[in-house]
Amino acid sequence: MISPGAVADTQTLVFHRDRLLLREDGFALPSHAALAAAGLALEGALPLGSWEGRYWQVAQAADATPPLAGHAYFGLRALFGELDHGLLGVAGRGYQIAEWARTHRFCGACASPMALAPGERAMRCTSCGHLAYPRISPAMMVLIRKGKQRLLAAHANAPYTRYTALAGFLEAGESVEDAVHREVFEEVGLRVHKLEYFGSQSWPFPHSLMIAFTAEYLDGDIVTDPKEISDARWFGPEDEWPELAQVSIASELLAANRP
Ligand SMILES: [Zn+2]
Repeated sequence: MISPGAVADTQTLVFHRDRLLLREDGFALPSHAALAAAGLALEGALPLGSWEGRYWQVAQAADATPPLAGHAYFGLRALFGELDHGLLGVAGRGYQIAEWARTHRFCGACASPMALAPGERAMRCTSCGHLAYPRISPAMMVLIRKGKQRLLAAHANAPYTRYTALAGFLEAGESVEDAVHREVFEEVGLRVHKLEYFGSQSWPFPHSLMIAFTAEYLDGDIVTDPKEISDARWFGPEDEWPELAQVSIASELLAANRP
């Protein structure tokens, strides 16, 4: 139960699908009072927790039209570099929770309605008790080193050629290390060893967890999978090293391993 004092400090993130409601000038969040006055149904809002002394919740708007004048819905990805890093983290969490609730209204086992389970972040089937938790999809990323050289690849499905580290989703039953070895072999035909953990990042597009590694080249010649990779090659100190503008684990991984 939230006390009235806490309600005054409530900040509600309003999404329409994957886009966040913000003021058009300066990307400020709309106040809880303004949202309530606009008649947006906030009763079904989902709790996110406390951050910087405020209580945060998230609501999904059914209508694509912004409920407040001077506001618009903005895609989260476009807000990288515009919003404060901490706020982006809360917004990413909010989006994933809202999207999970939107896509788990009915049970996958018996098709009965689902309801929020008390005391945990889960949807429980009102008929058979099946539980559904927010989906988090782990993916690995790896930068391969060979002496002063680094392996970078351009992905076949990207809208433009951009060289970056290899990445791929884990499959059921795999460890993240298994996934690194499998993806490296599948995508570029190499074997690696000496895996070293670099860092991880929640990537809410729509619900990934990127887990980044470096690895040392072991053996093999580059043979790319054309369905996944349009080009892969070794970059040395004399090559132009790509700088990724976005604040992401990929940009950090590349910046920290410049040849
Ligand atoms: Zn069920």
